Amino acid sequence: MNKEAYETLTEELKRSGARLIAVSKTKPAEDILQLYNAGQRLFGENTVQELTVKQQQLPKDIKWHLIGHLQTNKVKYIAPFVSMIHSVDSLKLLTEINKQAQKQNRVIDCLLQIHIACEESKYGLDPIVAEQLLNSEVYKALQHVRICGLMGIATNTDNEAQIESEFAGLQHLFADLKEKHFGDKDYFKELSMGMSSDYRLALKHGATMIRVGSMLFGDRNYNKV
Ligand SMILES: *Cc1c(COP(=O)(O)O)cnc(C)c1O
Repeated sequence: MNKEAYETLTEELKRSGARLIAVSKTKPAEDILQLYNAGQRLFGENTVQELTVKQQQLPKDIKWHLIGHLQTNKVKYIAPFVSMIHSVDSLKLLTEINKQAQKQNRVIDCLLQIHIACEESKYGLDPIVAEQLLNSEVYKALQHVRICGLMGIATNTDNEAQIESEFAGLQHLFADLKEKHFGDKDYFKELSMGMSSDYRLALKHGATMIRVGSMLFGDRNYNKV
């Protein structure tokens, strides 16, 4: 764990008021505990498997965020404890989250993941589909999920102007949806965007949560997992 990077980042975030989701995917519990001992409480994982194992191993006051693609048949494993799901990309998934949250007698905070990158492979809703979701009667009847904002992943490129325009587009959509659908709901306030390589650009465009992994934990070695 890179303590210096953590401290620098924490200072930077104080100025913007944004929160850090420390992305600990592929990293062992010891690494997470080091960051925990430095004061970090919000952690993000991208698979249900890793999330559930680590939640059992690590201190119970950690707030766990799921940031990766979620299959409906796996929602039940994280519904008892997950703090926020950033990767909601269909009404079907949201309906399942609602069902599992109800079983746990709780409300689960969610973000709608919006497709902002120019890459085919990235998950996420098109803005028009997100709007259709929010207009649907099925969504309006869900009592056990709360949509707290939007999440996006920019194109993996060195072209900063492109990344910025993607973040700016998401910021604009956020403002638009807030006005049309969440005017009086102060919980709709989160804009989750920015990773190690582009978090500064995200902060410039109103990110309230940045998801940073390798800058804090070092490069990931997928072969080890
Ligand atoms: C891995 C991951 C991150 C963090 O990426 P880094 O480049 O390691 O900071 C952020 N968001 C999502 C959705 C991820 O899967």
